[in-house]
Amino acid sequence: MTVAAILTRKGRDVVTVSADLSITTVVQMLAEHRIGAVVVTDSAKRIIGIVSERDVVRALARGPDTLGGTVSSIMTTKVVTCTDRDTINDVMTRMTEGRFRHLPVVEDDRLAGIVSIGDVVKARIEQVEREADEMRAYIATA
Ligand code: AMP
Repeated sequence: MTVAAILTRKGRDVVTVSADLSITTVVQMLAEHRIGAVVVTDSAKRIIGIVSERDVVRALARGPDTLGGTVSSIMTTKVVTCTDRDTINDVMTRMTEGRFRHLPVVEDDRLAGIVSIGDVVKARIEQVEREADEMRAYIATA
């Protein structure tokens, strides 16, 4: 199964923010949309960073005043991405090696979706169940 298959069901909407937005607003957006990360884009809609709840927690550890700062002060700028053609195994490997749970999807230099560890685990479980069903059906007809 590929990233494209995950996105066909999930949709390609991605919550994006600009780097000058306040961290407090990002916290509200994460809560409102029930998500763990937002992608930071510039005026040309190019990806320039990612902010996850972990970055917010790290900022909070420096003191509550940091919440008044901007996204640019806490975002990760070296963003690892994937494409529609990547497989579940490809993205699982990338997330495990990078120790993060979100991968923006890029097609033709444009943000085309996002997959989270939750999406990947769900797709993997469905894949394993389907293979087990096929195996049972094969054995029953053999
Ligand atoms: P997460 O596990 O996704 O909550 O993110 C953990 C850390 O990795 C945070 O500092 C994020 O900013 C960063 N991060 C999340 N996703 C990515 C990504 N695709 N590429 C690079 N860094 C990321």
